[in-house]
Amino acid sequence: MMPRMKPGIRSLVCAAALALALLSGCTTVPETGRRQLMLIDAAQEAQMGLSAFADIKNQQLISNDPAANRRVREVGARIAPAVGRDLPNADWEFVVFESEEVNAFALPGGKVGVYTGLLAFADDDDELAAVVGHEIAHVSARHGAERASQQLGVALLGLGVALASEDAKHQDEIRVAYGLVATGTVLKYSRDHESEADRIGLLYMARAGYDPRAAARFWGKMAARKEAGLRMPDWFSTHPSDETRIKRIESWLPEMLPIYEANRR
Ligand SMILES: [Zn+2]
Repeated sequence: MMPRMKPGIRSLVCAAALALALLSGCTTVPETGRRQLMLIDAAQEAQMGLSAFADIKNQQLISNDPAANRRVREVGARIAPAVGRDLPNADWEFVVFESEEVNAFALPGGKVGVYTGLLAFADDDDELAAVVGHEIAHVSARHGAERASQQLGVALLGLGVALASEDAKHQDEIRVAYGLVATGTVLKYSRDHESEADRIGLLYMARAGYDPRAAARFWGKMAARKEAGLRMPDWFSTHPSDETRIKRIESWLPEMLPIYEANRR
C-alpha cells in the first residue's frame, strides 16, 4: 500500500515507479532471444492461467473417450519435456474437450486444451503436435503478457497511474490479452508473434520426435479448407494461415529436420 501523500508528491512517486517499471521490465524470449517489454510477473501470470483453466473445465464438456485422451496425453508427455525450462512455472495438464470445433489452446502455467474436432482434423500425431507445440510456444514466449504489458505501459504513460499488480482492472487487461475472459473472446496475435510461435513450436515438436514437416501440411490443410468456403473456427482467425507463413515454416525445415532425426522414435 502506498502511504498517504500530497497529490503532487504522489504523482512524482508514481512517475518514478513507472519509469523504473518500464526500464527494468524487460525479459528475453526463450529460443529466439528477442527482448520484450514485460511488466507482468511470471508466477502471477501462471496463477491466472490456472484459474482461467479451472473456469473453462467447469463450463465445457470434458471428453471421456479413452482413445482421444490417450492420444493427447501421449503427445503432451513428449512435448512437455521438449519445452522444459522455457516454461518454468508449468504444472502440465492436457485435457480433451468435447466439441466439433477444430481448436486447441494453451494457457500460462502449462494448461492445454484440445478439442475433439481437432483430433478428427489432424491426420496424425505429428499434425496434432504441430498445433500443440505452436500454442505452447505462444505461452512460453509470453505473448499474451507482452501484449498486456504494452497496453499497461501505454495506459500507465497516458494516465500516470501507479503500477499495481493487484489492481483488478489490470488483471482484466491481462486476461483479455490472453483471450481468457470468455472463450468467445477472439484476440489476434500479431504477425511477429505468430511467426515466433511457429518457429518455437517447430523446435518443440522436433525435439519431441515429431516430424516438423507436418506443421506446414496442417496449416496448408486449414488454408485449403478456408479456400473451399467451409466455415472456419474462431481459432483460425486468431492464427491466420497464408502462403507466406507456410513458406516461412518450410524455410526453417532444413534446420529442424536434423533435430527431428536425432529425436525420432
Ligand atoms: Zn498462433
